[in-house]
Amino acid sequence: MTKAILIRGGSVIDGTGAPPVRTSILVRGETIAALGEAAEAEAARASGLETVDATGCTVMPGLIDAHCHLAFDDAASNAEIFHQRRNALSALVAAYNAGKLIRAGVTGILDPDSTFENMIDLRDAIEAGVARGPRMACGAYALITGVGGTAGRLIADEGITGYYMCVSGRDEIVREVRRQVKVGADWIKVHVTGIIPRQAHRGELCVWTMDELKLICDTAHALDTPVMGHCRGAQATRMAAEAGFDLIFHATAMDDAALQAVIDRKIPIAPALTFQANMVDFGDRLGTAPELIRLFEREITDSVDTITAAHRAGVPILCGSEAGFSMVPYGAWHYREMEVFVRYFGMTPLEAIRCATMEGARALRMEGRVGAIAPGMLADLICVSGAVERDVTILGRPGAVRRVMIGGVWQDLSPLPPRRPIPGWRLASMGRTLTREIAFGEEAAAEPFVAEELH
Ligand SMILES: [Zn+2]
Repeated sequence: MTKAILIRGGSVIDGTGAPPVRTSILVRGETIAALGEAAEAEAARASGLETVDATGCTVMPGLIDAHCHLAFDDAASNAEIFHQRRNALSALVAAYNAGKLIRAGVTGILDPDSTFENMIDLRDAIEAGVARGPRMACGAYALITGVGGTAGRLIADEGITGYYMCVSGRDEIVREVRRQVKVGADWIKVHVTGIIPRQAHRGELCVWTMDELKLICDTAHALDTPVMGHCRGAQATRMAAEAGFDLIFHATAMDDAALQAVIDRKIPIAPALTFQANMVDFGDRLGTAPELIRLFEREITDSVDTITAAHRAGVPILCGSEAGFSMVPYGAWHYREMEVFVRYFGMTPLEAIRCATMEGARALRMEGRVGAIAPGMLADLICVSGAVERDVTILGRPGAVRRVMIGGVWQDLSPLPPRRPIPGWRLASMGRTLTREIAFGEEAAAEPFVAEELH
C-alpha cells in the first residue's frame, strides 16, 4: 500500500472561495484521499503513516501562476532576451529558477512563450523527474505578424526573433500551428496586439485580420490545442473572443462590445497587472518619473470596471505575474496579482485565492485535477504560517511558505546555492549618459528610468 501522509491542525482553504475550516487532510500516493473524520479514520488504519502538525498554518492549494516566462531569467530588456541568450544554457538557468518558484509556493505555471521554445524541454524534464519544478503547461513561440509586437523593429520581418515567430499568410500560419503542436505545445500563443512605432499614440493595435485569428483557432482546435492571446485594447480583445480564443491575457481597455464578447463565451482572463502594480508602488525607488508611474496606475484603474463586471458575470479571472522580467523577478511576486485583485478589483482575499488556485487549473489544462483541496484531487498544496484569508500578502513574506507538496511529494525548500554571473548573459550597458550637467552641474541630475513595455 502506498505511503500515507496526514496533515492535521491546519486551517484549510480549499481554493473554491469557501472560508477556511480546521480539518485534517490525508494524502495517499499523489492524491488527496480524504478530509476530516474520514481522513483521521483512514489514517488510523494506515501503516507507515507520516503525520504533519500544521497548527498555526494555512493549508491551501499551491499557487498557479498563469503567466510566467521561465526562460527569460529576469531580463531587463527584450534586446537581452533576443540577442544574449543561448538555448541549452537558458533551459539550465530556467531549471535553477524553477526552484525559486517552488520556494514561493508555486506548484503550477503556464509559460506562454520561450526562447528557442525550450520551456517545452524543461516541462518534459520536470515531468520525467530529471529536474525539479512546478507543473508546467507551455506555449512555444508566440505567433506574430510582420507588423510586430511590443518590441517594435527589434522583431524580424520573418522567422524567429527571441520568443516570437513571425508568420505571413494562411499556409505559414497553418504550418506553424501544426509544427508547434507536434513539438509539444500545450497552448498556441498569439501576440494579438502590437505597438506600431509611428502610431504609438494609438496604443497597442490588433496586428491580425479576423480571418487569420480564426484560422489559428480552427487549426489549433482541430488538434485539441487551445489558443491564448496577448490583447491590449477593446478591438483586439473582442476579435480574439469572437475568433475562438480560449484565454486572454491583459484584456485592458475593453469596451461594451469586447466585454460582452468575453462574457458570452466565458473566456478566462489573466490581467497580469503585477508588473504595473510593482511600478506604481516601487517605481520611485527605481527612479521612475512620476508621470510614468501615473500612466501605469491608470492601466490598472482603467481595467477595474470591466474586469470586475466580467468577474461578476462568471468569467474566470486568473492570476499571472509576468515573472521573468527584472521588474517581476522569480520567487518574489507570484502572490501579488491576488493583492491587485483585492486592492483594486474589490475581491475578497478568498475570491482572489480562488483565482490563483482553482481557476488557475484552467491554465494548466488540469481543471478538476489540481487547484483545490478535495478528495481525488492531486495533492499540490502549501502550508503557510498565518491567516492568508485575511491578508494574501502573507504569501510574499520570506519564510512564510513552510511546506510545499507537489503530487504528494514534499519539495526541498532549503536555500538554493548562490548563483554567479554568466559571461555574456546580460545585455551590456554603459549606464547613464554623461551629460555636461552630470559632469559639472551643481547636483547630479537624476535621469528618469524609462520602463519598456516588454510583454
Ligand atoms: Zn508575458
